[in-house]
Amino acid sequence: AREWHLKARPDGWPVPGDFALVDAPVARPEPGQLLVRNAFLSVDPYMRGRMNDVKSYVPPFRLDAVMDGGAVGYVVASEAEGFEVGDAVLHGLGWREYATLPAAHAVKVDPALAPLSAYLGVLGMPGLTAYAGLVAVAGIKEGDSVFVSGAAGAVGSLVGQIARLKGASRVVGSAGSAAKVAALVDEFGFDAAFDYKAGPVREQLAEAAPEGIDVYFDNVGGEHLEAAIGALNVHGRAVLCGAIAQYNDTSAPAGPRNLALAIGKRLRLEGMLVSDHAALKPQFVAEVAGWLKDGSLRSEETVVDGVEHAVDAFLGLLRGENTGKMVVRLAS
Ligand code: NDP
Repeated sequence: AREWHLKARPDGWPVPGDFALVDAPVARPEPGQLLVRNAFLSVDPYMRGRMNDVKSYVPPFRLDAVMDGGAVGYVVASEAEGFEVGDAVLHGLGWREYATLPAAHAVKVDPALAPLSAYLGVLGMPGLTAYAGLVAVAGIKEGDSVFVSGAAGAVGSLVGQIARLKGASRVVGSAGSAAKVAALVDEFGFDAAFDYKAGPVREQLAEAAPEGIDVYFDNVGGEHLEAAIGALNVHGRAVLCGAIAQYNDTSAPAGPRNLALAIGKRLRLEGMLVSDHAALKPQFVAEVAGWLKDGSLRSEETVVDGVEHAVDAFLGLLRGENTGKMVVRLAS
């Protein structure tokens, strides 16, 4: 079966030659293990960081070894109690067609409740990131004016919608194309949106949120964070979730030059990791599944077909080719 190996550590933007699709034998499950045929693989921005050989909150990928990441699939052989052939499971051995893993590392998911890919997106890690960032980190409350960058992506499109459902007075998003900006307003219910490539973020944000903002959900960093610090009202909160604008930088990024504004405005800028918020999961799943069911939350995916296109999907994600969650669908 095929699996993706990291062949070289990217310097700046990754290139296809940094990766290789390799044929490898599939290990038979030992007692306590499962063999899973993967149906969907997740490609996520944090994987770019794992391609560097640096200490971080997730260990780096090893060279000449299969990469890993979120995946959902079907059990095709089980040596573990409680798991049957045909069960759908979520696990961490993506970037490959078949995965052999301890059953303890797999979570059963319900394909009747939502399509399998949803467990990599709206009902999975990006969904919990959006929910926990707003609810637990920003402490969103009715009447807040909210700005989110990366707004047409997996996390961002949910942030905007959840903010609205939680009573935000105004929801503003930024994204990298006119088509995405139109989708934010027309499909995702944002009050205003702008294309950060079309002009300075600071000016466009001032126009989109003339009364300022109370919450900034940062997926991008850099110019966006600086503009948001300028636009935040007194006692505003910024959730530092991601800084994708600098993941491929080879030199140190310029910091927000206006950080001292945080003093007088008594801003709270707080970093978050979704892994700290596992306790919120039951509340998150109940609330978000309810919104999906009654149609008040829209979940979008960009689907790339074929394990052989997983690297294309990942590179496409970094270039902004996705709206909503980027997933790779494997042939069944
Ligand atoms: P997305 O679905 O948002 O995909 C990434 C998007 O980033 C692209 O679609 C692209 O959209 C945008 N982008 C790429 N380069 C730039 C740039 N230079 N400036 C602005 N936008 C850019 O990914 P996710 O929703 O999975 O992740 C969003 C962010 O959240 C990432 O920063 C990620 O690292 C972070 N994250 C953090 C977690 C945590 O626990 N802290 C957990 C999960 C995600 P566009 O066309 O708009 O440019």
